Amino acid sequence: MITKKKFFWLNIVWRWVYFFAIIFLFVCGIFCGVTRRWERVDAPVLLPAAIAGKTIIIDAGHGGFDPGAVGRSGLEEKTVTLDIAKRLKRYFSRVGVYVIMTREKDLDYSMMHEAGALTKKRRDLLHRVRMANESEADLLLSIHVNSFPQSIWSGAQCFYDSKVPASKRLAEAIQNSLVTRLGPNRRKAQSADYLILQATNIPSVTVEVGFISNPREEELMADPEYREKLAESIFYGTAAYLTQEAGLASSVVTKPNGGRHETLTAKVYPELTFPVLEPGSACLYFATPNNEELSFTPEFRVLPELEGKSKVIKARMILGELAKGPGEGSALLPCLPGGDWVQDIRLAGTRAVIDVRSELGTFINGGGASELLAIYSLVNTLAVNLNLKEVTILVDGLKNATLGGHFLLSDPIKPRPELGPIGAEIAVGTGY
Ligand SMILES: [Zn+2]
Repeated sequence: MITKKKFFWLNIVWRWVYFFAIIFLFVCGIFCGVTRRWERVDAPVLLPAAIAGKTIIIDAGHGGFDPGAVGRSGLEEKTVTLDIAKRLKRYFSRVGVYVIMTREKDLDYSMMHEAGALTKKRRDLLHRVRMANESEADLLLSIHVNSFPQSIWSGAQCFYDSKVPASKRLAEAIQNSLVTRLGPNRRKAQSADYLILQATNIPSVTVEVGFISNPREEELMADPEYREKLAESIFYGTAAYLTQEAGLASSVVTKPNGGRHETLTAKVYPELTFPVLEPGSACLYFATPNNEELSFTPEFRVLPELEGKSKVIKARMILGELAKGPGEGSALLPCLPGGDWVQDIRLAGTRAVIDVRSELGTFINGGGASELLAIYSLVNTLAVNLNLKEVTILVDGLKNATLGGHFLLSDPIKPRPELGPIGAEIAVGTGY
């Protein structure tokens, strides 16, 4: 017979059983959820054997005297890149990758005495290149933040040197990870002549994590949680590349030079496709206003006053038109500011030397995209109108200068007509 007292204790015991059962199921639920999440995110990518034991050099772009691109809120590129680089280091360290950092503090290397380096920025860049080349690392990840004078552009984008196939594969793997993990982004990995990519002898990629000139992305970049996501995406992209390379290596019986020195392949760009111009007309290179790739749409402008002028006068007039920006009503974007930023132009055969004012750097605002487009807007426009093969850019008379801190203007620059192919999209400017 169950007494009242016994019934009371039984009731208490059952309550505890229910309580623990619920807790148990709850914990199981969490555990299953977590492990399923791990399965979903990690399993296809992480092959520890392909990753552990590798050495990676991470370069936090800019630093010290050089803030890089600056957002409207005052957020500086050098702060964002350093924070992401440190987070990225933690990801790699957890899986047995040895990480070398070009910097772990807010500093620059302008005090280093690099041979033949005149400017602070050049000394800083060349020292980073030297660190990468002496590190014998398996790859270099250079972290940067993009910017463009107009705020419409957004999206992370990876850049590589087109003459290094491994760098292209690395850039594509990271781009793919950034796009799939961070949401809508139609940008693709693209080749660029960044000094750090050209001068290093290991596969290297510049990751521009977003546009600080876009208010939404500037806000995201100021958020530590988003920077963690960026680091995570770069890590998984790199892991995917290393896994893929390990697969490639095992499927190839003999790989000359261990696959390291693939730089022997010549840089191949498509054949020049510059248009043939009518006398009294000019072709001006402005940025295409899409959010997918960095490219130009050439604008044709009727300028009868060009006829009969000397080549130097013509060059000045055409650059004056370029500085005016796209024609009225055009959706294209200017890559260079208005005003007179040309100090001197010298022409010899198919070569030109143009001396520009350093104020152009202010317009560029430290952004890789704005720097790339400013340089090639100038070079492509001069090349197509004056039939040039190369253009040397001096800044305030100096040869080894840089405008935004990514491109070193030491060598003559060859035009890249493939950045603005003549196709269906030709804008005809109405002029002013
Ligand atoms: Zn940068």
